[in-house]
Amino acid sequence: PPRPAGAPAPKPGIPGVKHIIAVASGKGGVGKSTTSVNIALALQSLGLKTAILDADIYGPSVPRLLGVSGRPQQIDGKIIKPMENYGLKAMSMGFLVDEDVAMIWRGPMIQSALLQMLREVAWGDLDVLVVDMPPGTGDAQLTMAQQVPLSGAVIVSTPQDLALIDARKAVTMFKKVEIPLLGLVENMSHFICPSCGTSHDIFGHGGARAEAEKIGVPFLGEIPLAMTIRENSDSGTPVMVSAADGPHAKVYREIATKI
Ligand code: ADP
Repeated sequence: PPRPAGAPAPKPGIPGVKHIIAVASGKGGVGKSTTSVNIALALQSLGLKTAILDADIYGPSVPRLLGVSGRPQQIDGKIIKPMENYGLKAMSMGFLVDEDVAMIWRGPMIQSALLQMLREVAWGDLDVLVVDMPPGTGDAQLTMAQQVPLSGAVIVSTPQDLALIDARKAVTMFKKVEIPLLGLVENMSHFICPSCGTSHDIFGHGGARAEAEKIGVPFLGEIPLAMTIRENSDSGTPVMVSAADGPHAKVYREIATKI
């Protein structure tokens, strides 16, 4: 029967996928993708069957962060086999177009590309599909919020006021579309000087925790600004795999247990 006017669109799930969790940020460059990949690997290390979808159509970074390249295979005409590294299945626009090709799509194309990457991929049985969202509150975010049954959203922010103001917008958007907020992560929280061992609050400190309390969203943890996190991200060996026993991996695991 036709949907009554004004009724919300149906949100069909993905067969075999128990939870879809969005990782979002108000603005770019706050380390959202790095955090998404490490949280996905942390969830996996806790024994959950996990995969990651890179929903950033214009600036996909999951292939580089996971150290995977190449083209995914088509299985039966329409369905695509996800790529995989470190036991984590992954899908990204970066696997489908060359890195230096600029995507110049309008909203409806973004929407159909996103929905295809979600629904026409052989994810198999998953406990969690982590979705690395593009920054901001645009078309892709609306598509995800309105057409995908998200179990919840995690917001990543740096302690800078500016990032927090933008993070607030992301929080407001998810509240508006009634997606549960799983919590706020403060990335690049503080810098521990490798030579003197002192902690420096380069962007200020604790802003995300205070903000989380103010808006009644759980605070999930603080990830330091660390050279090893940056180097390992950029070389495709996230700290969750390259330094799984290290202090940063511990923080990601603690965050994962709270999600
Ligand atoms: P976003 O997805 O928000 O645009 P990225 O995850 O691509 O951000 O991170 C932007 C840059 O910051 C990358 O070079 C990444 O390696 C670096 N980065 C992210 N988080 C940290 C961190 N905690 N410490 C050091 N560098 C980080």
